[in-house]
Amino acid sequence: MKTYLLLSQCDTCHKPTIEGYCIDDGAEHYCSDKCLHDQMTDEEFQEMSGEDGTSYISNWYEDSMTYKSF
Ligand SMILES: [Zn+2]
Repeated sequence: MKTYLLLSQCDTCHKPTIEGYCIDDGAEHYCSDKCLHDQMTDEEFQEMSGEDGTSYISNWYEDSMTYKSF
């Protein structure tokens, strides 16, 4: 049995990424602090990842099927 990994793409540098920042439940991905900070500040990310947050730091090794391939 083969396992296929579906990578997501960093929305800043457009490199394939399998861990990093997941914004708005997967609408956007950023592979590193640098790429995140290109789009928003740490404070903005903290707000988005708060109580009702849909943003988090994650990897999607296990869950890769739910992410789009490209
Ligand atoms: Zn990046």
